[in-house]
Amino acid sequence: MTEKPIPKQPDTVACQVCLEEIPSSVAISQEADVYTQHFCGIECYALWKEKHKKEQLPEE
Ligand SMILES: [Zn+2]
Repeated sequence: MTEKPIPKQPDTVACQVCLEEIPSSVAISQEADVYTQHFCGIECYALWKEKHKKEQLPEE
């Protein structure tokens, strides 16, 4: 009952945008607030950044 498949990459994180699991060594990391966000690639990072910017920036 304790047998589990050994993951190829034990140290994985989930992409904040598409939720794909990726090795933390290749993830793009961005510290936001108290959490560190992870992204599978620059495209997801750009998407999140755009959305986050709109949500967080106060209007001037
Ligand atoms: Zn992604």
